[in-house]
Amino acid sequence: MSNTTPSADVLDSYFGPAVEVTLSGLRAGDGGPFGATLVDPEGEIVVAVGNTVLRETDISGHAEMVAVREACKKLDTLDLSGHVMYATCEPCPMCVAVMMWAGITTCYYASTHVDAGDNGFSDMHLRRYLDGSDTSTLDMIHLDSGREDCASIWTEFQRLNG
Ligand SMILES: [Zn+2]
Repeated sequence: MSNTTPSADVLDSYFGPAVEVTLSGLRAGDGGPFGATLVDPEGEIVVAVGNTVLRETDISGHAEMVAVREACKKLDTLDLSGHVMYATCEPCPMCVAVMMWAGITTCYYASTHVDAGDNGFSDMHLRRYLDGSDTSTLDMIHLDSGREDCASIWTEFQRLNG
């Protein structure tokens, strides 16, 4: 899969379904103004979805997250390498992470995180946390003394997979 910019027709055919499902989701109160289309290595659309945060009462129901979840179930795989994400807006760090976990290496996006912020959907707290400029939003504390309490998980994993 090359990373050359898709033609305008291709962009229309991939962004179009994401926009359509997002607009209908907005009107139904499903979630925020974000959509995504996941395309397989042959260029076929696997899923086109919108944000489902409100409908599912799921804070992680971002469009790219939903697209990865639905595509993995539909294709019965955890490996979406070779697939390409078309996101109506620049993905947040959570969605960047889930794409990476799924092996997706190319994501095209239209609106930017600044556009999202201007519309009340800022992800700057995540971006600042991850770039180290403001870690006050989450105390991430390693408890070395807890390792022993949790060690049986590794032991059992090794027994099952040894
Ligand atoms: Zn996201």
